[in-house]
Amino acid sequence: MFDEILRELGIEELNSGVAGYPGATASGALLRTINPATEERLPAVQSASLADYEAMVAQACLAFPRWRSRPAPARGEAVRRIGEALRRHKRALGMLVTLEVGKIRSEGEGEVQEMIDMCDFAVGLSRQLHGLTIASERPHHRMMEQWHPLGPVGVLSAFNFPVAVWAWNAFLAAVCGDVVLWKPSPRAPLSAVAVARIVQEATRGLDCEGVFNLAVAGAEIGERMAADPRVPLVSATGSCAMGKRVGQIVAHRMGRALLELGGNNAIVIAPSATLELAIRATAFAAVGTAGQRCTTARRLIVHESLHDKVVARLQAVYKSLPIGDPWDDRTLVGPLVSEAAVQAMQTALETARSQGGQVVAGGARLARKGYFVEPALVLARPDMPIVGVETFAPVLYIMNYRSFEQALAIHNSVEQGLSSAIFTNDLREAERFVAAEGSDCGIANVNIGTSGAEIGGAFGGEKTTGGGREAGSDSWKAYMRRQTCTINRGDDLPLAQGVKFDVG
Ligand code: NAD
Repeated sequence: MFDEILRELGIEELNSGVAGYPGATASGALLRTINPATEERLPAVQSASLADYEAMVAQACLAFPRWRSRPAPARGEAVRRIGEALRRHKRALGMLVTLEVGKIRSEGEGEVQEMIDMCDFAVGLSRQLHGLTIASERPHHRMMEQWHPLGPVGVLSAFNFPVAVWAWNAFLAAVCGDVVLWKPSPRAPLSAVAVARIVQEATRGLDCEGVFNLAVAGAEIGERMAADPRVPLVSATGSCAMGKRVGQIVAHRMGRALLELGGNNAIVIAPSATLELAIRATAFAAVGTAGQRCTTARRLIVHESLHDKVVARLQAVYKSLPIGDPWDDRTLVGPLVSEAAVQAMQTALETARSQGGQVVAGGARLARKGYFVEPALVLARPDMPIVGVETFAPVLYIMNYRSFEQALAIHNSVEQGLSSAIFTNDLREAERFVAAEGSDCGIANVNIGTSGAEIGGAFGGEKTTGGGREAGSDSWKAYMRRQTCTINRGDDLPLAQGVKFDVG
């Protein structure tokens, strides 16, 4: 089954990790990832050296003026073709994501569907990139705001959405007239190589050389990109630590950074909640993708009247979770991505215990090959320092609250601000949660869990999550530069604010 998939995607025993422009070659170190479900080695990828990176940026800079002057709907046509190719290869690419990072199959394919949705969105957008006309205070003047392409856009992506994060960025950037430089996670190089092949197949004959570029590499090339004045925008998705570093480097040269960083998302279960809905949503949000989503629910804040009932229901659900091979359709929880991730989870649980937490379900490593763990439930207090930390594994801290104000205070007490949810049938409580004085996150849901966002809305978070917005709504504006133009069709030169400056 896997051989057939690798063949369909053009993956060989050794693959070049550099692509997208004429003469692209890779001369960096050899990368070999491990199938997290079996610990077997996957085909190798030759990564990009610094010289390869330099060549890629030089080619991208040559391609940019050409691409920028192509009409936006024609740029959209290239993205439409990529969307068609992704539809053809959805099953295979989804499966490769499963092989490489261990997501269950429906989530692997779901990630490719997200790429397809982004294509459709970007194609429509390519006919709707619009500015404004604004009333001028000066007679016979017209004022308008328009949007221009920026240049080469750097995309640093995380392992847990190895292909969709690129799509959020690349398709918007491309229809906006930018060219794209992608440095994927070194933990998912094959998925990136496969995407580059699909793009190549889809855009053949469309003169897209130098538009969708790939350089598989580690953090050093990422830092080089962050420091590179030829890259006006660096969109970085990953941990808060990475974002702090990249944000500082980009700021130092007055570039733009779009940061999509870690979350520490919470679900509030209020007294009036429909319990079964809340339990199902909590289970998906906390253990889906084995707790490796930026939007994973890591904290559950439960009204004291429901606390014991919720814990008992969740314990029963956790006991019956099908954990196992991610390509088996019955599995709901696949492996963690690496041995280091398993160790990080074990350390977090030990720390939680030492801070007074009580593990009431799961937490053990499975006695089999692969990086499998049982998702854990931990009874905790909001003042335990570990509760403020994003451990990228399925650990859910459960806390009690008495008043709505207390629930909100606990909710907003962490450094991160990505996604949030409340389960309630009390209209005023729901409204308070999404009001200005409510959740401080970029995403606030009612009677829906914290994860599984649609692409139509702007995606991103506040505080140490970085403040960036990607995907839908008007996120495209981040990939363009705004220009305000005032045009005088009269014979006089009236000055704004009534200023007089008559020269003789
Ligand atoms: P990571 O920070 O280890 O790596 C992310 C990317 O940044 C990789 O491509 C990596 O090579 C690169 N990188 C790391 N250090 C760098 C540096 N100093 N300079 C330049 N590039 C650098 O993250 P990860 O482990 O791959 O992903 C998990 C993290 O990503 C979690 O914290 C998760 O919450 C977050 N995430 C956030 C979102 C979001 O949209 N907010 C989406 C997915 C993942």
